[in-house]
Amino acid sequence: MSETKKEKTEGQLKQDKLFYKKKNYFEEASESERKEMFDYAEGYKTFLDAGKTERESCEVTIKMVEEKGYTEYHFGDKLSVGDKKYFVNRGKSVAIFKIGNKDLESDGIRLIASHIDAPRIDLKQVPLYEDSKMCFLKTHYYGGIKKYQWTAIPLAIHGSVVLLDGTKVDISVGENPNDPVFCINDLLPHLGREQMQQPSTKLIEAEQLNVLVGGVPYADKDVKDSVKLNVLNILNQKYGMNEEDFLSSELCVVPAFPAKDVGFDRAYVGAYGHDDRVCAYPALTALLDSESEHTVMALLVDKEEIGSEGTTGMQCKIYEDLMEEIAVSFGANFRKVRHASRCLSADVTAGFDPSFASVYEKTNAAIISCGTCMNKFTGSGGKSSSSDASAEFVGEVRTAFAKENVVWQMAELGKVDIGGGGTIAKYIAKLNIDTVDLGVPVLSMHAPYEVISKADLYSNYKAFLAFYKYDR
Ligand code: MN
Ligand code: MN
Repeated sequence: MSETKKEKTEGQLKQDKLFYKKKNYFEEASESERKEMFDYAEGYKTFLDAGKTERESCEVTIKMVEEKGYTEYHFGDKLSVGDKKYFVNRGKSVAIFKIGNKDLESDGIRLIASHIDAPRIDLKQVPLYEDSKMCFLKTHYYGGIKKYQWTAIPLAIHGSVVLLDGTKVDISVGENPNDPVFCINDLLPHLGREQMQQPSTKLIEAEQLNVLVGGVPYADKDVKDSVKLNVLNILNQKYGMNEEDFLSSELCVVPAFPAKDVGFDRAYVGAYGHDDRVCAYPALTALLDSESEHTVMALLVDKEEIGSEGTTGMQCKIYEDLMEEIAVSFGANFRKVRHASRCLSADVTAGFDPSFASVYEKTNAAIISCGTCMNKFTGSGGKSSSSDASAEFVGEVRTAFAKENVVWQMAELGKVDIGGGGTIAKYIAKLNIDTVDLGVPVLSMHAPYEVISKADLYSNYKAFLAFYKYDR
């Protein structure tokens, strides 16, 4: 016997037409599109594993774009229509752009701006010490982390050391299967009674985030700090450095595990550093795949996690300079170019987690697998510090997404007055460029192991393609 399908009532039909309903992208996608989602995630995982710091993400990006025929741009270079260029800022941020055939003054630049730094633990400048015949590295954490999450997990060390003679040595230990790893120790529960009474911010304090790096003494019984000496001797043989060279180093401690599928059905990707490579990778790949006639640019910047400061953060003039260089190259009025430009600030948002439902207001929360998520505004209580995109611009982007059947959703971070967060959107909006936030919802954001949905990742890519393409 076959089931008879009930026809929709008049009210139900009207509801379909009038209600806003988020759609699960896995459910919406055809079989072939679902396959595309899973295939796309494979490339993303490779990108994640190849770049665990902004320096490495920058490097892997350059490799990817050079393979597609992009060449390096320097200030002052003459540009022509059809040029495919990348611009590197101090090895830590990169802009990839393609010159379209539209008039710059009336069409502007179509910009997608993401960041490639992620919360982690940096080494102090004088990090090495020995205690109780163990050798450790002292650290200063980078970005907003829950410190207790970084203990008792395998860690890798990535970064660069500049020696006194100016040579730069790159270091990456802990990623290859034969590499050793490092770790930050925690207290055993048997002696943790007092510790466990502490508020979680004090469970592990910043000065306890010390990384275990050695235990074999140097073979000379007359030496004090013989374990430290042995570690330095290894570093000296491998990298030509001595202890003073740490002064001019940037060494980052990051989780040592690779990106992996999560779930029996492999719906998710678990990895370190989704925030914000889960937007950087689609910004980049959509630009490479785009056949847009606009001048398009993907920005992969640094320092977002500590306030977009410094010469590689979004507040640095260099990104504005680059856009101005493009304008100048075509004799365009830069004020007009900025006014005509459009930007997606591509950053992650919090995915609704039913285990922590109380901090979300579900009607306005980002639901996992319902597509990439627009935040009209970010900030905290009272929309403080948010650039708050206009209804007109949100409308423009909505229409563009609808034309390309992008499955996406609108949300805000959590309940009003419960917390908040910002992105680089406001720094771009300040340039008189209409900007709105769009990015993938993340579970366990800023943890050593974050989780995203493959549906949301692919939706992000499709949304970016639509954004690079649409005509106003
Ligand atoms: Mn972010
Ligand atoms: Mn972040």
